[in-house]
Amino acid sequence: MNVLVTGAAGYIGSVIVADLISNGHVAIALDNLSLGHRNAIHPNAIFVPCDLSNFDQVSSVFSTQEIDAVIHMAGQSLVGESMQDPGKFFRANILNGLNVLEAMRHHNVRKFVFSSTAAVYGEPTEIPLSETSECAPINPYGASKLQFEKILPWYLTTYGIDYMILRYFNAAGATDTLGEAHTTESHLIPILLETALGLRSKFEIFGSDYNTRDGSCIRDYIHVSDLASAHIKALEVISQPTSRIYNLGIGHGYSNLEVLEAARAITGLPIEATIGARRSGDPPVLIARADKARKDLGWSPRFVEIEHIVNSAWLWKKKYPNGYVD
Ligand code: UDP
Repeated sequence: MNVLVTGAAGYIGSVIVADLISNGHVAIALDNLSLGHRNAIHPNAIFVPCDLSNFDQVSSVFSTQEIDAVIHMAGQSLVGESMQDPGKFFRANILNGLNVLEAMRHHNVRKFVFSSTAAVYGEPTEIPLSETSECAPINPYGASKLQFEKILPWYLTTYGIDYMILRYFNAAGATDTLGEAHTTESHLIPILLETALGLRSKFEIFGSDYNTRDGSCIRDYIHVSDLASAHIKALEVISQPTSRIYNLGIGHGYSNLEVLEAARAITGLPIEATIGARRSGDPPVLIARADKARKDLGWSPRFVEIEHIVNSAWLWKKKYPNGYVD
């Protein structure tokens, strides 16, 4: 299959591109390189620089490339930033995605896999969260992703664009060559590892007064290569789906303090930590009910222990302490 991946130079997109290629697909890798890294894109991918906010640019990619399916990864994803600048998130995560859908319908491309998020659920009313749990986002990031999810059934009804929505829990870990290197890092595991390496002077736990087993937030960490493999499975069944929305998580949560302990154990370094205020927009607990993707997609995650996930990130971080040098 010829698969167009938007956001292909990003953390998860780059791993999906590599996975597509190793599974014999052609990967057309789109990115504007505003957040992603050119060096993260597999050398055998067809790299096309593209600004998704420009419909003519998006459409011209579909005119010049043979495309069978789209995996739409591009977007803004930092919860904290979304609380400061919601408009940026609604533009990037809704309007830019609409440009992709419009280009698809004009060029008769009818398979669309959408990168969504556990942030659509907001503050959970039940744990674990199943795909039918109530969606009530508590930050603009989750709200923008949920709005875009709601657009997709109309493109199916009107234009026959088959879609699959994959709601990621917390992507983490690294492959041998690809890892997490955001220009402004805000994620727990890379920050812990940068602190371990002495690249940061301090690490702060955001909040210790949540109603959880140790007072810190709990998240369901899923390895980036397991996320990638779920996309390949989704593409295989997208024309005859059992369902169109899947949680991608392990089904087990680790608290921020437990992740800190795992990072100390894996690195063998003390990693000094202080307790700080809550970060606005953070739900206390996010854990997936994760059996539906296993059953319907025939997918099973290879990494289920936080130590293995942190270890993979640590091996990568030691090899590439400064991330990608573009
Ligand atoms: N977190 C933290 N200190 C940091 C970065 C993150 O305590 O320096 C916490 C954050 O408040 C959340 C958890 O780690 O409870 C996971 O945050 P991350 O940004 O990695 O992912 P998110 O859940 O926001 O997608």
